[in-house]
Amino acid sequence: MHWPMNESAIRNLIRSASAGLATVTEAPQLEAELLLAHCLNKPRSYLYTWPERVPDTNQCQRFQQQVQARQQGWPVAYLLGEREFMGLRLQVTPATLIPRPETELLVEQALLHLPVQAPARVLELGTGSGAIALAMAHVRPDLQITATDISGDALNMAQHNARQLGISTVNFLASDWFSALPAGMPFALIVANPPYIAAADPHLEQGDLRFEPQMALVSGADGLDAIRTIVQQAGRYLTPGGWLLFEHGFDQGPACCKLLQQAGYQAVDCLRDMAGLDRISLGQHFPLRQALQSAG
Ligand code: GLN
Repeated sequence: MHWPMNESAIRNLIRSASAGLATVTEAPQLEAELLLAHCLNKPRSYLYTWPERVPDTNQCQRFQQQVQARQQGWPVAYLLGEREFMGLRLQVTPATLIPRPETELLVEQALLHLPVQAPARVLELGTGSGAIALAMAHVRPDLQITATDISGDALNMAQHNARQLGISTVNFLASDWFSALPAGMPFALIVANPPYIAAADPHLEQGDLRFEPQMALVSGADGLDAIRTIVQQAGRYLTPGGWLLFEHGFDQGPACCKLLQQAGYQAVDCLRDMAGLDRISLGQHFPLRQALQSAG
């Protein structure tokens, strides 16, 4: 892209960048504005207040680099280094999945399925940026939350986000699903947004997914490997009457409900996201009933 000096007023920078981004995104103007505001270290409103101002050469160069990276497909969240989730500003890097709006449903439902009396123990598996655990801790500071991830880089990111938000009630733990969790300290609720995309899914070659950690996205031939592990093992870590809730793909609702039923969960249900797609499955753990059921 060419940037003649006399074209470097904020208004013109936005105009040429959004023309350059039109082929890669449905929101070229918005993205150009977000990237420019970020490079100037100013709120977006600054761009409208001072459209004739000319940013300095470094800022222009940085903006040009960011627009080019976006044209190559880099996710806006990684370029900005942050994403908002349930009103919390989270730092995100390519070490973690970018929090999605549909995952807010998982947080809302987790909060609704918690006992009201404190202090409930909650486990989040595969926390990534920490989005789910931190959003829950923000709403319910009385909860004792353990958040795990297999990736040390992700845990560092999540811990950084906790510090930035002043949240100290989440205990972060390196763990391959349940592997590092002590037995005998059951949780009232276990929540996860695990990887659930099938290894050969063509979506992996599109959009933001190309740049996100595969470990956080892909889970075996049918996408259900992680969910199978979680459903099979969660019962050992739940209190009687405790809930397991997890996110999954739009076409995995029936399979997930079946897995939960086969594992003896009660009150199994599948909930839809704002787009009307199956997105969350949940079930309640009753060890005695589960034992009776498996004894026939
Ligand atoms: N919801 C993400 C997507 O389909 C996938 C996230 C995940 O695998 N947990 O883009």
